[in-house]
Amino acid sequence: MSLPSLEQTKAKILVVDDQPENLHLLSDALNSEGYDVKGVVSGEMALVVATSAIPDLILLDIVMPGLNGYEVCARLRANAITQNIPIIFLSANNDAVNRIKALNAGGADYIDKPFQIDEVLLRIKNQLKLQAAQREILQFNHELERRIQERTAQLESANQELQREIIERRQVTRLLQESEEKLESILNSLEEVVWSADVATSNLLFLNPAAQKVYGRSVAELLNNPDLRLESIHPEDRDRVELSLASSLNHSNDLEYRIVQPSGEIRWVWERSRLIYDEQGIVKRRDGIICDITERKQIEEELSYEAKHDSLTNLPNRAKFLERIEQALTRSFKDQHYLFAVLFIDLDRFKIVNDSLGHLVGDKLLIKVAQILTSCCRNNDFVARLGGDEFTILLNEIQTVEDGIQIADRIQKQLESPFYLEGHTVFTSASIGIVIGNHQYQDSSAILRDADIAMYNAKSHGKARHEVFDQEMYDETRELLEIENDLRKAVLQNEFVLHYQPIVSLETNTLYGFEALLRWNHPTKGLIYPDKFIHVAEETGLIIAIGEWVLKEACHQLSAWQSQYSGAVELKISVNIASQQIKDRNFLATLDRILTNTGLSANALHIEITESTLMDYNPETISLFNQIRDRGIKFNIDDFGTGYSSLQYLNRFPISILKIDRSFIQGMLDEKENFEIVKTIITLARILKIDVIAEGVENLKQFRVLQTFNCKLGQGYLFSKPMDHQSAALLID
Ligand code: C2E
Ligand code: MG
Ligand code: MG
Repeated sequence: MSLPSLEQTKAKILVVDDQPENLHLLSDALNSEGYDVKGVVSGEMALVVATSAIPDLILLDIVMPGLNGYEVCARLRANAITQNIPIIFLSANNDAVNRIKALNAGGADYIDKPFQIDEVLLRIKNQLKLQAAQREILQFNHELERRIQERTAQLESANQELQREIIERRQVTRLLQESEEKLESILNSLEEVVWSADVATSNLLFLNPAAQKVYGRSVAELLNNPDLRLESIHPEDRDRVELSLASSLNHSNDLEYRIVQPSGEIRWVWERSRLIYDEQGIVKRRDGIICDITERKQIEEELSYEAKHDSLTNLPNRAKFLERIEQALTRSFKDQHYLFAVLFIDLDRFKIVNDSLGHLVGDKLLIKVAQILTSCCRNNDFVARLGGDEFTILLNEIQTVEDGIQIADRIQKQLESPFYLEGHTVFTSASIGIVIGNHQYQDSSAILRDADIAMYNAKSHGKARHEVFDQEMYDETRELLEIENDLRKAVLQNEFVLHYQPIVSLETNTLYGFEALLRWNHPTKGLIYPDKFIHVAEETGLIIAIGEWVLKEACHQLSAWQSQYSGAVELKISVNIASQQIKDRNFLATLDRILTNTGLSANALHIEITESTLMDYNPETISLFNQIRDRGIKFNIDDFGTGYSSLQYLNRFPISILKIDRSFIQGMLDEKENFEIVKTIITLARILKIDVIAEGVENLKQFRVLQTFNCKLGQGYLFSKPMDHQSAALLID
């Protein structure tokens, strides 16, 4: 801070003196010193010039006419513009009183008259210097003050900022505390375990109280022992968990595993954890959450058990069994020496037991069979119930097919003994299909299918036996499937015809009637006989539609003949009816409708049923039979002697005719036993007032013998083979 010196610039000096010579002297001296000098001769003038020109210094004479020096000084001091201008008094009264007066009046200095000009100049110089210094000090003071003020302001604002910060910090701390409290209360009330661990040491950094329930250990115990967490994992799951954690360094990790509590109790848990990184991307720790999923697991297990087990026998079901075959297959792919067998077991006539003795007995029987099957197997074999009366067994690690056969034998032997169920004695047997499983099979269902085919074969070869699957069987089954498909088309396209075989009176050698026999006119295979397709029709239910057609066609034919030929009026028509047809609710209505539509008298119609149809009886069937009988329709028992040959039903049902099976007739002459059977049946029938038709009479010898037995009716090639309706018509005429 420096101010320009008044000496250097031209300082303005006002000289006030009433004596002109003084004024000149001073003015000249000052001018020559370089000052800018104004001179006035009165106090009044001095006031005017001082306020307008504002000199830097005034040399003021004290004694003057008008306003004296003191008064001028006082006025100048009273004026704001001039108050600071330094004044040097000039006076002739150089005593101390005057000097003091002069200084009191506001003078800066005092020079005695007569003056030495040099002194005046020096005093002026000093005074100007002083003034400059004063100004400088003043300005310095101003600057200082400004700076102090500025600094104070700065400090004040900094202080305010600090205060604000302190307040803010307090608030943040409070909020932080609140949120920490909240977090803690949440963590404490959580059912889930929340943990945080050091990755390097596995030391737990945090664990919430929920851990106690899951681990069965105190939180402190777990926090103190870093290994305890891993040690608590079920030994079977431990490696998996460790491996998973080790391999999940870069992402979050989801796991399900078991925790074994010190009491031995096992809890299933689900855990999700993830690594936490700092700003530099360095792993800080691993945080995780653990949920107890024991209940969910239990439900899942129950559901999966239920989904894979049969609730009646408690055996695994089809789904589980297929799973097991799949496992066996996988093993056989790896080990070509490994052989296994699948047994397909189907109870024979189970439906009869169920229908006649009730479901309760049926269920008990299934439970018993399940027990027997299990007892016949080794520990590593696998028994399942597919449904209904179908069971399967997977025989593990067998050497040859003989092993499978042996087990099948054992099962069949065990099933021979009767069961005592709910007060009933129940006999059962099983048909068993055996298939050897090996690596050539692609999937489990193919194995099961082949075992089923073998079982089906065992059934069709007479039941209560077993068959081992082979290629031929497969081909037969394929053929059967083909027949089934073709048969469906045949029904739609009406590919059937009836042939008629005469039934002859052995007493009069006249025509008694015809048996209507079904033929299938296959579009590519030609005429197919019923033994090739009737069983398929029965198994598929197609027999209902086919049977209805046969009945309608046969009735229509005889009715037509009757209206055409007088010789046909007394003739009867026998129609074979399968047991499914009898069981069909609409059977009676169908029968009535056909008779009405064809106009055939009920008396002319004979219904041929086999013994097995009657074995299935119940009160409703008896009533149905009676209703049919009441219409005048007759019942023939077909193939008599081959089935149950039970005499009971002959009383119970309204039977008109027994047809002795042709096997007895054909063996009659060679085997004494058959001879006796035929004779006995005829005698018996006579007692029961039932007529007899001998089936399959092929030669005269048989014919004669039957005549000697007084057998009333006969049917067979001897008289005629079955023939089409045109040929049959010729016989009538
Ligand atoms: P079935 O009712 O016992 O019919 C008699 C069968 O014996 C007929 O065979 C007939 O051709 C044959 N036969 C007759 N006389 C002789 C003989 O002297 N020697 C020999 N070896 N055989 C003789 P077909 O026509 O092949 O019928 C076979 C079986 O098919 C029938 O046996 C019957 O059970 C069934 N069937 C035929 N047509 C129908 C039908 O429309 N409905 C139903 N459900 N079954 C039918
Ligand atoms: Mg018949
Ligand atoms: Mg027959």
